[in-house]
Amino acid sequence: MILRSFLLLSLAAAPLLAQAEDPPFPPHRVIGNIYYVGSTQLASFLITTPQGHILINSSYEKTVPLIEASVEKLGFHFRDINILLDSHAHGDHVAGNPLVKQMTGATVMVMQEDANEIPGKIDKILHNGDQVKLGSVVLTARLTPGHTKGATTWTLKATEGGKSYDVVISSSIGVNPGYVLVNNTKYPGIADDYRRAFEVMRSLPCDVYLAPHGSQYGLAEKYPRLGKGGPNPFIDPQGYKAYVDNSEKSFLSKLAEQKRGR
Ligand SMILES: [Zn+2]
Repeated sequence: MILRSFLLLSLAAAPLLAQAEDPPFPPHRVIGNIYYVGSTQLASFLITTPQGHILINSSYEKTVPLIEASVEKLGFHFRDINILLDSHAHGDHVAGNPLVKQMTGATVMVMQEDANEIPGKIDKILHNGDQVKLGSVVLTARLTPGHTKGATTWTLKATEGGKSYDVVISSSIGVNPGYVLVNNTKYPGIADDYRRAFEVMRSLPCDVYLAPHGSQYGLAEKYPRLGKGGPNPFIDPQGYKAYVDNSEKSFLSKLAEQKRGR
């Protein structure tokens, strides 16, 4: 009996605990038909069309109810998500895929090089340069590998105030602790892949950049300025350049360290 009530208690407390670890972030329109529906730490983006919506990043399974609540709070319906995409095959961005699929019936599309690492049913395999279309929205999948083999950066256009903007929803390009950049038997081409990712990212026209973690694109600083009369704070081409430059510098210094045998 004691055990039973303990179990009930822990079950009831679990969602609260999940929220305490990574509380909801206010859902908001970023630009045009692109919305933020993620948590404080894990970014998810909703791209809306009259023909249904696209969700990028399911995050953890425990994050999915929070994403659902954010979508509904913005006045859209979670069940109207037709396509589920991701930034890369790490659990904090894709572990919720099976649950989102179950709740929405969305078509799950995944970059080929990441497909083995992504849980749940995959409906369509994507390759570098493939386009994902829904209504009038066209997203292009760019392979920006290194962080994972199939790390995917999404590009699209958004319209606001009669102007068209280039939006880059980048993957992660950071080198995680423990990543082996030299003589990596499981991922022999990792360093060249990072180099390729930086090259691709530099080649992309960008007015607005977003990323799988709010901290990577200054969400906490930009969001409070949104709708306060000034220009849209997410329009930040210089910030994008700095993000790519700083990430590359960090990669090169870690690569040099590992080559020195540290
Ligand atoms: Zn990652």
